[in-house]
Amino acid sequence: MKKCKICQTELSHPDITICGECISEKITMKIKKEKELKANKYITQICNVLKRENITYELEYKFLKDRKFRFDLAFPLYKVAVEYEGIFADRSRHTNLAGYTKDCEKYNLATIDSWRVLRYTAVHFANNKVYDVIEQIKDLLNQQYLKEN
Ligand SMILES: [Zn+2]
Repeated sequence: MKKCKICQTELSHPDITICGECISEKITMKIKKEKELKANKYITQICNVLKRENITYELEYKFLKDRKFRFDLAFPLYKVAVEYEGIFADRSRHTNLAGYTKDCEKYNLATIDSWRVLRYTAVHFANNKVYDVIEQIKDLLNQQYLKEN
């Protein structure tokens, strides 16, 4: 009997080399990697600390079924989200009224759906302040955790 080359479980078909579970795990990791590459460098800084502390998160998280809005970083279990506002970026949505209006819509819908959103700009990350940001995220996660338990 042939075995999965990753997890060593016996395979049901001689033509395959990886079991279904490992394939979906691989696809999930690939999507996660791609999202991470796309993530803003400040969001990536946060993710690196979260990973070290074993705090699970989602990137580019679509929080409403029927709308396209996504959070840069989210903790769906606690309905906590983190947004990086690139207000000085060239193609920033904040540079025009339509874009800013869309953002208002997004945050209003998030609030109605009980999300708590932390919003940051590059200034918040200057001079190693990423740890201040992390502290705020952890404070909020703790608050949400205590509320539910
Ligand atoms: Zn496997």
